[in-house]
Amino acid sequence: MTATSWVIRGARPLGAGPADIAITDGTITAIGDAAGQRGAQAIDAAGLIALPGLVDLHTHLREPGREDAETIETGTLAAALGGFTAVHAMANTDPVADTAGVTEQIWRLGRAAGHCDVQPVGAVTVGLAGSRLAEFGAMAESAARVRVFSDDGRCVSDAVLMRRALEYVKAFDGVIAQHAQEPRLTEGAQMNEGAASGRLGLAGWPAVAEEAIIARDCLLAAHVGSALHVCHVSTAGSVEIIRWAKSKGWRVTAEVTPHHLLLTDDLVASYDPVYKVNPPLRTAADVAALREGLADGTIDCVATDHAPHPVEAKETEWAVAAFGMTGLETALRVVQQAMVDTGLLGWPQVADRMSARPAAIGRLSGQGQPLAPGSPANLVLYDPAASSAVDPATHASRSRNSPFAGLTLPGQVVATLLRGRATVLDGKPA
Ligand SMILES: [Zn+2]
Repeated sequence: MTATSWVIRGARPLGAGPADIAITDGTITAIGDAAGQRGAQAIDAAGLIALPGLVDLHTHLREPGREDAETIETGTLAAALGGFTAVHAMANTDPVADTAGVTEQIWRLGRAAGHCDVQPVGAVTVGLAGSRLAEFGAMAESAARVRVFSDDGRCVSDAVLMRRALEYVKAFDGVIAQHAQEPRLTEGAQMNEGAASGRLGLAGWPAVAEEAIIARDCLLAAHVGSALHVCHVSTAGSVEIIRWAKSKGWRVTAEVTPHHLLLTDDLVASYDPVYKVNPPLRTAADVAALREGLADGTIDCVATDHAPHPVEAKETEWAVAAFGMTGLETALRVVQQAMVDTGLLGWPQVADRMSARPAAIGRLSGQGQPLAPGSPANLVLYDPAASSAVDPATHASRSRNSPFAGLTLPGQVVATLLRGRATVLDGKPA
């Protein structure tokens, strides 16, 4: 579908009353009565909520190197089907995205696929090895214009290296996205440390292993006056530390995943590795604190940490299974269930947490713009009244490791537009 001029009839922008949205040549030109719009294709959007295109700060697209799990083509199609118009591709590929060449390759493959914008994240250290800083400047100046740097999957645990990384990115307004996991405290860890791990006899992953790194990094970011982003916050204590850091006026932002907003470590009792994830599922009290933190803005945004794995890496015994869950195609539905249907967030705040804020943190200029005349027509039409069981076999992702499989969730992404071009129509790839 190559049309970029549309009239969307009767949509509910950010959940408000019905309005027509006129799009001309990929730009929103009017919101209100667009009955007179000519030469445009029409979409009947009665009852559908219109949101700005979603932006994911944390996606594992697996290409290059693990195309058996996901490719840029399949991962970005999954993103579009989830309502995303931009994703940040994490650097733990093979080869690692630690040079201008690799990040440019990923950026170009994303453009060629065309389902959503792909913004590569650069590695903090060469080969994610945690010893030498990667060439941030060359990645920042490349065609990919890298601004977010992360060794995600691993923690930059060396405090001196972390300090230098934070100092280095200031030159081009970059941000270090930290996977907060103190390595010594989590050696061999398999699940959240607590009552459930005791019962199940699995090595525990204490909350303090996450919280200690977050506290240290907030202090380091403040000390050098730089920007820290905390990936996948999973504990109540982490929310408290970030709330404290923000109260100081420090440049700290944070994300939470859909699965940490909905699922708890009780699920591990099944020993089904689909629930094995890093950081691990935590307790109901942690879930409540994460929801509250997202609602009050302590946690800036939702990020999927979409982590596809081939069947053989997940359908095996718990101890040797890979960590990670898919999430792009269910993120908005989970957020509706956990945050909107519970009254914690309205749709304007969902737009903030899933589009505007992640775009701002990722330094993406053309994404996360308000639904208003003059904005690029990046938007999603979503039916909040729909409801269906999650079936990973129908997902566009190459992998099937969704922890929501079989669960009935509200909502359905009906259409996604990327600069006015439909990537999804009638809930299917356009
Ligand atoms: Zn991570």
